[in-house]
Amino acid sequence: ATPAATMVGTTIGARNGVLFEGGDILERVRDVDTVVFDKTGTLTKGEMELTDVVALPATDGGSVEGEASPDGDAATDGGALVGPEVTEEFVLEVAASAESGSEHPLAEAIVEGARERGIEVEDAEAFENVPGQGVKATTSRGRVLVGNRKLLRDAGVDVAPADEAMDRLEREGKTAMLVALADGEGADAASEAYRLLGVVADADTVKESAETAVSELRDRGTDVWLITGDNERTATAVAERVGIDPDNVMAGVLPEDKADAVDDLQSEGRRAMMVGDGVNDAPALATAFVGCAIGSGTDVAIEAADVTLMRSDPLDVVKAVRVSEGTLAKIK
Ligand code: ADP
Ligand code: MG
Repeated sequence: ATPAATMVGTTIGARNGVLFEGGDILERVRDVDTVVFDKTGTLTKGEMELTDVVALPATDGGSVEGEASPDGDAATDGGALVGPEVTEEFVLEVAASAESGSEHPLAEAIVEGARERGIEVEDAEAFENVPGQGVKATTSRGRVLVGNRKLLRDAGVDVAPADEAMDRLEREGKTAMLVALADGEGADAASEAYRLLGVVADADTVKESAETAVSELRDRGTDVWLITGDNERTATAVAERVGIDPDNVMAGVLPEDKADAVDDLQSEGRRAMMVGDGVNDAPALATAFVGCAIGSGTDVAIEAADVTLMRSDPLDVVKAVRVSEGTLAKIK
């Protein structure tokens, strides 16, 4: 394209909230044949809401003193009894306290949801964020884990008792998180091992324009993919909702592995545009043929990006392509 045409394109883009880093980027976008969408905050609103709290029945043996339940319905008597029963309220209280130090949307939804349900959320005493997995915290109730299966398994927790609840919630497209507590009481006193308390789940809403954006891209012959740190079942449920082929879902991808995943696609000869919003996505944005930061994305993401979309609208990805092709007027 001539410098004049490039300038027109860049200007039209800017007017439409699509910022190209430069003229060569504008031209490169035209050649994109694969678009990889991050899930959370990109295809979904990233406005999580707490939807479910599940308390698991106690399973481990041993005698129990003290009570884990805040409202005193702990089943602590009787000879053959297993650990103290926990209530949903207790599961939520423990999870929210552990998450109080996190700014992750999943965490904020848990804290907010607990407050809405009348639970007083105490700040965690110590807190560690495990990117792409969850949090480890010390609360007044003891040491707490909230996160995915990997986080808990790595800490030696048997997650099988939560399988049914996890599977059910994930099939509903929700992000289900396991909650475990080491309170130094009851059966776990000796080992200080974690006890699996239950499951909390957040749901996110798919953006209104996500489905149209995907279908417009596919009409253009673009292969559309979904990448997420979230699990396979939740990711596939969201993919189905927006019209992405389940075979094009890359789930359970750790933040540092997102760039490798994009690289793998590109090593097949694809020219990929990665669309993401988070800190997690910056390396993948930098690796992609075109990195595209969407909406109120983080500064880190914007810095790594070749294209920045001012709005948080997946349809603006289509706009970017149309501007690049000089066919913006043809957008539906
Ligand atoms: P995404 O790729 O969708 O943006 P992340 O990489 O941030 O998601 O997180 C991946 C998974 O790790 C989440 O689906 C969740 O299971 C777990 N996780 C991450 N942060 C937290 C948190 N603060 N509390 C609980 N679980 C978390
Ligand atoms: Mg994200």
